[in-house]
Amino acid sequence: MPSPPSFGRLTVITGPSGVGKGTLVARLLERHPGLWLSVSATTRTPRAGEIEGQHYFFLTRPDFEARVAGGGFLEWAAFAGHLYGTPRGPVEEHLAKGRSVLLEIELEGARQVRRTFPAAFQLLIKPPSLEELERRIRGRGTDGEEAIQKRLARARVELAAEAEFDAVLVNGDLEAALVELERLAGLEPGPSTGS
Ligand code: ADP
Ligand code: 5GP
Repeated sequence: MPSPPSFGRLTVITGPSGVGKGTLVARLLERHPGLWLSVSATTRTPRAGEIEGQHYFFLTRPDFEARVAGGGFLEWAAFAGHLYGTPRGPVEEHLAKGRSVLLEIELEGARQVRRTFPAAFQLLIKPPSLEELERRIRGRGTDGEEAIQKRLARARVELAAEAEFDAVLVNGDLEAALVELERLAGLEPGPSTGS
């Protein structure tokens, strides 16, 4: 009998903007090169230092909408006035090859993936407090006041959805959160970076 295809594991990471998802995921990828992080498409403009095709695919709204109409996204959602979506093809290809895939997406997208990939592991990352979240968003220095207010308003909604998730992780001490993330994602602990 032919052996069944081997499918990789899909992990969805959600959490308020500024909670440290990008920081945690970047550290996780350094320690586990076998993981693959999906690169999303967005209609927002690049922040300083963001690279096309690496951080996001930056699309115009008409191009984004054409891709939606063509079924090109696994999920997509509006967030803080912009559209964000996960290109379908690369995720399906990596999973079919047995590679573990990470999606770092907001709540509405996570809900869509829950319907299409019920076996995906869904993780919510929380800040120690809303005050600390605001400090991190401001400290990052990438968003104007209007964008900050939109992100903070949305944060309350995302945090209220905690019960929908398979697991919740508080990103207080970064190193401790990283170890806990590895445990929850079923990864062997990576090498300590000493930082
Ligand atoms: P997100 O990807 O969730 O929007 P970022 O990874 O950009 O968030 O982190 C937002 C800010 O918070 C960054 O300046 C980052 O350096 C900082 N940060 C991330 N994790 C921690 C942590 N555990 N403790 C303190 N600051 C953190
Ligand atoms: P930012 O503008 O801070 O990069 O991202 C804003 C929010 O959009 C974050 O919560 C991030 O997780 C989410 N996001 C990024 N890519 C996607 C995506 O492809 N789909 C969805 N639904 N959300 C995304």
